[in-house]
Amino acid sequence: MRTFDLTILEEKITPHLRRLIRQGSIPIGLQFKRQDFLVEEKFVNVDPLGEETRYSPVKGIIHKFSNRILWKVSYRCAAHCQFCTRSRQIGGSDGDLSARDIETALQYISSHKEVDDVILSGGDPFVTPKVTKDIIGRLVQIESVKVIRIGTRLPVHSPSSFKSEPVKHLLSKICSVTKSQPVFVLLHLNHPDELTVETVEAIRLIQGTGAILMTQTVFLNDINDSVEVLAKLFIAVYHLGIIPHYLFHCDKVGGLERFIVPLEKEREIVTELCKRLSGIAIPRYAIDVPGKGKIDIPLGFWEGVDLTNCSDYEGTTINLVNL
Ligand SMILES: *Cc1c(COP(=O)(O)O)cnc(C)c1O
Ligand code: SF4
Repeated sequence: MRTFDLTILEEKITPHLRRLIRQGSIPIGLQFKRQDFLVEEKFVNVDPLGEETRYSPVKGIIHKFSNRILWKVSYRCAAHCQFCTRSRQIGGSDGDLSARDIETALQYISSHKEVDDVILSGGDPFVTPKVTKDIIGRLVQIESVKVIRIGTRLPVHSPSSFKSEPVKHLLSKICSVTKSQPVFVLLHLNHPDELTVETVEAIRLIQGTGAILMTQTVFLNDINDSVEVLAKLFIAVYHLGIIPHYLFHCDKVGGLERFIVPLEKEREIVTELCKRLSGIAIPRYAIDVPGKGKIDIPLGFWEGVDLTNCSDYEGTTINLVNL
């Protein structure tokens, strides 16, 4: 088994984010500024989901669920979110794929006919637009692959990048693919302050490709753990024609202790959101359970829910409080 350094992610902030922080956005500062005092680390595992050890058949690929594959195109991001689940890797060049790694991964995907859904992730696939464009060009040639998803946070980190030629080429590629098969772009958004005019412009460019936009959000202590903040975020998102998809409990990764929100508090918030917002503005509130995948967390509408006695999709008992 491999081990990982418990070092906290290096600080990397774009001029766009720096400006928002300078203008006074505390939620943005808390997400990207590295804190300079030491915290007690309660979680010792930096890879609790076993991505590296259990589910990676070839470099870059995580194959955990039979029909879908997560493909880490690189470990590069335009800025470093300090709560990143993959903080063990982000920022380095170790995740860069050689032409040979890409061939091996494509070979793996085409030989697994049960895989119809490929999620390009990382790192941020929009940060290596040329590689991502080439990979998409190859994936559409694999008949068994019907759906491509791309996770990104570049519209938040660096909206001006969408004016660069390589990103424009990637967008044109996506546009040509969406004429015959769906491309889902999963935008990582955590706070309404992230939806600046520039970011919305970048989002419009992605929407212009015909891709279907959805969001993923992580519950973060002192950043978005309130009904008001999340209501504002999800209302803004669905007003933009984007579907809020996931709202995750932050993974218990070593080094991320200060970001974790207690489950009970999260449940109260999501329960209240369900009462207030349109159905299509409510994301799926879930937790990524080591070895099990994403499990829905029961809300406050049912009496006497015992979080220590929940169930995964196979009926196995799961203790959500003590993972
Ligand atoms: C989240 C995830 C997926 C996608 O799962 P969905 O339930 O389809 O959203 C696939 N592979 C891995 C490793 C994941 O973490
Ligand atoms: S954009 Fe995603 S992968 Fe990159 S640092 Fe942020 S959370 Fe991690």
